[in-house]
Amino acid sequence: MDRLLTAGFRHNSRRLTRFARPQPSESLPAPDTARKYMLYLHVPFCTVLCPFCSFHRVCFEEHKALRYFKSLRQEIRMAHEAGYRFSDVYVGGGTPTVMPAELAETLGLLHKLSPIESISIETNPDDLRPEVMSQMRDAGVTRVSVGIQSLDDELLKQMDRYEKYGSAAEVIKRLEKAHGFFETLNADMIFNLPYQDERSLLRDIDLLTRQLEVSQVTFYPLMSAESTMRKMLKTMGEVDFDREGHMYRLILDALPDSYQPSSAWCFNRERGTVDEYIIENEEYLGLGSGAMSYLDGVLYSSTFSLNHYNRQVDGGRFGISRRQPLTRRDRLRYFMLMNLFGLSLDKAVAEKRYPGFFWKLAPEILGLKMMGAVRDEGDRLVLTEYGMRVWILIMREFFMAVSDFRDLMRHTIREELDAPGPLETRIPTPDLRPPGTH
Ligand code: SF4
Repeated sequence: MDRLLTAGFRHNSRRLTRFARPQPSESLPAPDTARKYMLYLHVPFCTVLCPFCSFHRVCFEEHKALRYFKSLRQEIRMAHEAGYRFSDVYVGGGTPTVMPAELAETLGLLHKLSPIESISIETNPDDLRPEVMSQMRDAGVTRVSVGIQSLDDELLKQMDRYEKYGSAAEVIKRLEKAHGFFETLNADMIFNLPYQDERSLLRDIDLLTRQLEVSQVTFYPLMSAESTMRKMLKTMGEVDFDREGHMYRLILDALPDSYQPSSAWCFNRERGTVDEYIIENEEYLGLGSGAMSYLDGVLYSSTFSLNHYNRQVDGGRFGISRRQPLTRRDRLRYFMLMNLFGLSLDKAVAEKRYPGFFWKLAPEILGLKMMGAVRDEGDRLVLTEYGMRVWILIMREFFMAVSDFRDLMRHTIREELDAPGPLETRIPTPDLRPPGTH
């Protein structure tokens, strides 16, 4: 059953992420000035490039990062001048805290431009230092999501994270010190790593929820791009997707009752921000190289080339370089996908947003009910426990398709990455053979 579902969702996810180039004159759509938007900022620099990672990230070089943050602030000003107003901000990467002072200045600019209600940032364990955390708290950060991935030393070594980000014991110490610093401290974990056994996963859950009592924990299934998974074979082994359902079941069974799901893969001890900004915000604006936006039924991607990005912004243009309009039906499906990922779909909200929603998506909804993935509770559709498993599979396929697109984009800037001198030469060249030819 899992394999059948995977094949179906893989096909649809690939279709949605076939971005076309925008026309040269095209910019972002005019904003709805009556509302506030979610803003996503991308900071693509990391000091170490982890082998499983398919995000848009490049090796950190100070002068490049300084230049980049300057462009990012300029693009934020441009969005403000175009009429965009923001309430919530999510800064992802890469490692957004790679230059804390630059990040703080960028967040300060946002506060100056309009009142911001919440700021969520991603970071790595070695930036959980008191001086960095204080700076982030002073800059208005309310939620910090720490990329831990695993608390098993052997797995950390395989992931090339042991040396840079510390042993499990060191990471635990840093997490203890960070306790209570922010409204929400999220631990980002990965499950279904090739050499991760049940004992290792259960120990992670125990440490995070019973010993450290982090306010939020997110368990992502391993979901790298195809070319990344081929490269991982030597160091991290082969991913077995047939194990994923069983590992997910273990997580659901092992989490203490005090941790309640807020999405299929995020669990909260206290009331906290939902981890995925795309759940609470159907539309969002993404700024920075490699950032994605979803506005007015169109998915946009910004250029992955840092040089191109800087030039675009210097010329007074946004960084967008690709667009993918969604059909009317896909917009409805996307809305249902993201809402049910957040565990329920409010019928009145869906009908108000898209009149005729339930009539138009009747076949899909009937199929989900027959599978036992959703339950009708009168005023809303609710994801069942089996549905949560199905949604893990759907979201994994969706993000893997996005990762394949990122790989393709990195391929288009290979010359920039391979240029002599820059540290980006450490980025592995993606293998772009179509699936099935190897
Ligand atoms: S996993 Fe995080 S730290 Fe590692 S390369 Fe990816 S973004 Fe950077």
